[in-house]
Amino acid sequence: MEAVRRTLRKVRRQVEAITSAVEQYSGLRSRWNGQIAISEEVDLLIQPVFLAKKEWDCSILIHQYALRRKDLIGTLIHECMHAASMGLTPSAYLRFRGYEEGVVEQMTRLLTPRLAGSLNIPIQATARISYQDYIAFLETIRAETGKAAEDFYLNLLRTPLADREDTVVQWAIEANRQEPAVRMLVRIASAMRGLK
Ligand SMILES: [Zn+2]
Repeated sequence: MEAVRRTLRKVRRQVEAITSAVEQYSGLRSRWNGQIAISEEVDLLIQPVFLAKKEWDCSILIHQYALRRKDLIGTLIHECMHAASMGLTPSAYLRFRGYEEGVVEQMTRLLTPRLAGSLNIPIQATARISYQDYIAFLETIRAETGKAAEDFYLNLLRTPLADREDTVVQWAIEANRQEPAVRMLVRIASAMRGLK
């Protein structure tokens, strides 16, 4: 029990440090309520149901299994990104899940090496594989906008979730003025379907 409490204290300090780094980097304000809880929930095959999640009351729930993993830091950064993500409401999440998970996960991948260095947290060479399909769809759309990765994803994180789809379409139209919008829209139609 004492070991769990010690781990929880350490994780709390890391989440606090990540939260302020994410706020500083993005200019967004985190909604994390300062609460961290540990879960032991498993499915019928005794596998953890999730690694971590941000609850709708904005506490962060971490699975016991995740605490022992080398890529814990990436998991924490992912959850801290959700806490800062603009306009993340249950109804927007249901309609635009890929525009939340894909953006948050890609921001996590872009920032993990940088944050781990500045926070003095050892980074493990564990490639992240979550939400690869959503990221691929977003990359298809990004190619049409001509935007650099950081510019694209950071600006989406700052855009309310319910407006992100309209925003990327607008960017893609502006970048392809030389052709009818409908032709460009055909190229991104299946990616857009995949993000919902
Ligand atoms: Zn997530």
